[in-house]
Amino acid sequence: MKIKEIHLKNYRNYSDQVVKFTQNLNIFLGNNAQGKTNILESIYLLAFAKSHRTYRDIELIKYNENEAKIEALIEKELGDLNLEIEISKKGKLTKVNHLRQNKLSNYIGKLNVVIFAPEDLELIKGTPNRRRKFIDMELGQIKPIYLKHLVEYQKILKQRNSHLKQGKIDEIMLDVFDESLASHGIYIMNARKEFILNLEKIASNIHKNISKNKEKLTLKYETFLSENEFTKDKFLETLKNNRNRDIEQGKTLKGPHRDDLLLYINGNEIQKYGSQGQQRLSVLSLKLSEVELIYMETSEYPILLLDDVMSELDNERQIELMKVIENKVQTFITTTTLDHLAKNLDLNPSIHYVKNGIVTERME
Ligand code: ATP
Ligand code: MG
Repeated sequence: MKIKEIHLKNYRNYSDQVVKFTQNLNIFLGNNAQGKTNILESIYLLAFAKSHRTYRDIELIKYNENEAKIEALIEKELGDLNLEIEISKKGKLTKVNHLRQNKLSNYIGKLNVVIFAPEDLELIKGTPNRRRKFIDMELGQIKPIYLKHLVEYQKILKQRNSHLKQGKIDEIMLDVFDESLASHGIYIMNARKEFILNLEKIASNIHKNISKNKEKLTLKYETFLSENEFTKDKFLETLKNNRNRDIEQGKTLKGPHRDDLLLYINGNEIQKYGSQGQQRLSVLSLKLSEVELIYMETSEYPILLLDDVMSELDNERQIELMKVIENKVQTFITTTTLDHLAKNLDLNPSIHYVKNGIVTERME
């Protein structure tokens, strides 16, 4: 899928801006603090109905304005699609082909986006929670039903935990919670297992190419059951065995809500031993694999957003990166200078000049 054009109204530092995009590579060029990332953020927002930088929607509205609006024309295999999102102090609303969507879950998934931004290093440095979020978001794009199981699981987990906290325990009630927790939980774990295996296959290949065969990237899904025990019965058995401890501590100690994803380079855990460069490249490999996984699942390439990534890659690595993109993935890159862009990128990029909330197609 491709974005043909976007219209930003009172969004961040943009007042009223239309930008038309090329099918392949779009570069946003400008000094610091001019609005380059804001544009990528607006595309991300159209896909997920939330920002990758803040959970406070209010920050997206231009200073001293009441309402922000983003509208875009998307070209998909099945025809063009108009997506809109309006954010006011009261909340946000989404539209598909001018029809208002009642549920966010009906809106999300119309536009598939993969982003690589400086914040993504947190994927390595951050807590397991950050990595679970990554898996959940990516799996949700590929398999929307996964999110339904996840929402149910979280709802029951919350109920079970609050029951565990209130002194009077009803064992039959806990049985009911356990049954439901195990059904959704085992679905989630199987989906995560399969996703991580597929991700590893593609990511290790991409990582091998970009690192010129020097680094082997492997992934490990860490959960409370060993891989050959992913059954509802095992899940239930664990809950039963842990029930007394759960009651003592007032929370559910075992389950996919404690999962983690471990990353290794040449057998060493990146989270502990990886250099800054290795950490960054591993995240980039994961993100680029995501592009392929979405394609495999939906038969359409997602949009790729790369915030400030080229300056960190040498020419050789940039060329490897472009091989992944080729002519198939519409890509948006921000940069403060074209100096370090490899000269032989050969993708005939369209350059959008960004200055103080205004985008022009010609240098002024
Ligand atoms: P860098 O190269 O440093 O990453 P950038 O071009 O990516 O810079 P952005 O993050 O896109 O910069 O934009 C930052 C600018 O947007 C800042 O000048 C900031 O003051 C402005 N800005 C952010 N939110 C709002 C808002 N709600 N209303 C008006 N301006 C805003
Ligand atoms: Mg930026």
